Amino acid sequence: LPVKGFNFGVDRASGTGRVPVGVGRKRMRIVVTGGAGFVGSHLVDKLIKRGDDVIVIDNFFTGRKENVKHHFGNPRFELIRHDVVEPILLEVDQIYHLACPASPVHYKYNPTNVMGTLNMLGLAKRIGARFLLTSTSEVYGDPLEHPQKETYWGHVNPIGVRSCYDEGKRTAETLTMDYHRGAGVEVRIARIFNTYGPRMCLDDGRVVSNFVAQAIRKQPMTVYGDGKQTRSFQYVSDLVDGLVALMEGEHIGPFNLGNPGEFTMLELAGVVKEVIDPSASIEFRANTADDPHKRKPDISKAKELLNWEPKVSLREGLPLMVNDFRDRILNEDEGKGN
Ligand code: NAD
Ligand code: UDP
Ligand code: UDP
Repeated sequence: LPVKGFNFGVDRASGTGRVPVGVGRKRMRIVVTGGAGFVGSHLVDKLIKRGDDVIVIDNFFTGRKENVKHHFGNPRFELIRHDVVEPILLEVDQIYHLACPASPVHYKYNPTNVMGTLNMLGLAKRIGARFLLTSTSEVYGDPLEHPQKETYWGHVNPIGVRSCYDEGKRTAETLTMDYHRGAGVEVRIARIFNTYGPRMCLDDGRVVSNFVAQAIRKQPMTVYGDGKQTRSFQYVSDLVDGLVALMEGEHIGPFNLGNPGEFTMLELAGVVKEVIDPSASIEFRANTADDPHKRKPDISKAKELLNWEPKVSLREGLPLMVNDFRDRILNEDEGKGN
């Protein structure tokens, strides 16, 4: 591998991320892998706003340049087209590792979770950077414990259609802890529960984006199975606040980051109808295999140790993504007419 044999030493002068945030804090250089994606781009906005230098690494697999184009021309922002499955050399203080094909239609057969995480941990080890992994509630599988605490080890089918994602993230967590224990890398692990907001991929099949796009397009909302399965939906700004609190805090985790409000898919369709279009209808479809029946985070640990909890309810958050979705759907339709 091209990186073998290189030894730039640890860039101690630039700090390792231990510097507390606040007035007079040192400006940091931060990598966000997957920074052109939905969550990543909102995180980049927050980091740039507070005055740090941000390098985004993204292969635009599901992310889009448009998500970060408002930072083009800002000398504190840099965008690198790169696949994290390949090694990379950079000198930074912190690494937020989000790169991952994150939805069922995209994540199959992709080794990003394993190879990408290994490379980012190798990078963190070489330069002494603090590394944050965005893991997922999917590590709990189809949970037998409800709500899920971080101490629960999960109930995952290792050979199912979703296992590439579930097991990929579980492996990523294992690698992260091994690099921490074996190489002393400073690590943080977030287990993110279903998150929604502006800039979500329009057509990647996730339920909130599907329902909102369908309501705007005046199509029926597709409810899979009997619609009684539950999820907990978190607005993206709450997640970004949680990720930064985790990175800056003293605790490794894992931490559940999610909104404990729990909804069936039928209830979610009801809320979309209520806040977006009272005339929206639903249509039942067959469910996918291994669909978890219920999911709801226990966030006591994050509340206590990170002093974090979500602020935006589903009824408050959904309307905040409508304008963005409407604009993009309109552009798409105009594009088709050309
Ligand atoms: P997203 O698809 O919008 O963002 C992922 C980004 O990673 C995209 O910009 C994509 O182009 C990039 N990417 C994918 N493979 C890459 C590769 N090999 N090299 C470089 N870049 C690559 O998804 P998101 O919702 O923003 O998810 C961000 C992270 O949060 C992911 O790690 C995901 O697993 C995790 N997560 C998200 C949710 C959620 O509900 N949104 C829930 C749990 C976990
Ligand atoms: N790596 C990287 N950038 C770096 C340092 C390492 O991409 O600055 C990659 C490296 O190519 C390897 C992985 O991270 O594939 C793990 O690196 P590590 O040094 O831990 O393992 P080794 O190379 O010794 O197997
Ligand atoms: N779902 C649905 N209609 C859709 C898309 C998804 O009813 O158009 C259901 C899906 O079966 C699952 C839930 O919504 O039970 C959440 O699916 P999503 O893919 O958004 O997230 P995840 O399953 O990863 O939690």
